[in-house]
Amino acid sequence: MKKFSIITFGCQMNVRDSHIIREKLLEENYIEESPENCDFVVINTCSVRKKAENKAKVYVREYKKKGKSVIVAGCIPHHDEKNLLKIGADIVIGTKNYAFIHKIIKEWQNQKKPESFLNRTPKKEIFEPIKKPEDISTFVDIMHGCDNFCSFCVVPYTRGREVSRDAFEIIEEIKCLVKQGVKEITLIGQNVNSYFDGKYDFAELLAIIEEIPGKFWVKYSSPNPRDFSYKVIKTIKNSEKISRWFHMPLQSGSTKVLKLMKRDYTKEEYLDLINLIRGELPEAVITTDTITGFPGEDEKDFEETLDVVRKVKFDMAFMFKYSRRPRTPASFLKNQLSERVKAERLDKLIKEVTKGILERRKERIGKVYEILILEKAEKYRGYSKGITRENVKILIKGEFEKGAFITCKIKELKGHSLIGENLKEAQKCIL
Ligand code: SF4
Repeated sequence: MKKFSIITFGCQMNVRDSHIIREKLLEENYIEESPENCDFVVINTCSVRKKAENKAKVYVREYKKKGKSVIVAGCIPHHDEKNLLKIGADIVIGTKNYAFIHKIIKEWQNQKKPESFLNRTPKKEIFEPIKKPEDISTFVDIMHGCDNFCSFCVVPYTRGREVSRDAFEIIEEIKCLVKQGVKEITLIGQNVNSYFDGKYDFAELLAIIEEIPGKFWVKYSSPNPRDFSYKVIKTIKNSEKISRWFHMPLQSGSTKVLKLMKRDYTKEEYLDLINLIRGELPEAVITTDTITGFPGEDEKDFEETLDVVRKVKFDMAFMFKYSRRPRTPASFLKNQLSERVKAERLDKLIKEVTKGILERRKERIGKVYEILILEKAEKYRGYSKGITRENVKILIKGEFEKGAFITCKIKELKGHSLIGENLKEAQKCIL
């Protein structure tokens, strides 16, 4: 059992965890292979929505049938451990013991009977640094877990209580990544703005990162509007590296539904926060998450969500139908809505949000941005994919080196894509 493959579902935290698992296994001389050619497959699962969960379980059964050994990691083990062993998992591990996955595999190989190692959690929370970045953009985790207990969310039950990572461990990891050519760092945690390592809060952490030498940008995900402070906004305003992209999950625009969700802010407070951010940082990019069809949401509540969308004009949104998750308080609420009603409202919401997105993109035509080149645009010959510090994706004419920072002027909006031209190239053309 030397050849492994990793299949990752879900959030940025899972992507990062899969990277840590990969580094650990490669350090132990395991060989990475495609799922078809491996001896064992690690399926890093997500349980935020039923759909993602069902898909992962299909994979477990399928790879078992193909004669692979199957390791199930991620969030599903934290609430469905026994069932995973029943459907074919050989090893079940949780989100806390990736640091010693290699030891768990060795132990399992000695007895070869399906086993859960979920309770093998380390005494102290482990934050494994990434040693070899795979790309110019990398996730750095600053905290694990969440204490908010939004009524629809499984994360507090799968990722546990909030633990913030020591600020200097984070700084050392970022310095090491920047030395290896990383240009875009995304700080991740389930609720980054409640970061506090006992000495530094989130704003102070950002200010320390700003002092790290080198040309790179810093983004973060996900904050919670509930306790997003003016101090953080000010710190960002006084920085060069920190993105003016604010991913502010709204979830619902109705204060009644926000209460049922236990989100702990009102429609008005959310709008005030957005106005505060835009007041201080007019160039701010605002994106969001929404849940449509939450139990008890009526037409009037849904209108409130549409009202916020019209007022804010988000630059992007991740929009979902409410998905009933096991043992979450919302799953016991009365007035669960039908899939038809949820789908109809989601449709309407997507239309309204898209109007705002296109309006915001049109406003960028003619403007000049510094962008980071991410890769060649496979679908558009002779173009490169780039991104601004504010996380706006741009297609730029010409082929540029990955990781280069160039200045570009937005020429047009083609469908949903912003098309830019490199200013230097344009000047050369003029001369
Ligand atoms: S803040 Fe986010 S991760 Fe935490 S419980 Fe709420 S939705 Fe889940």
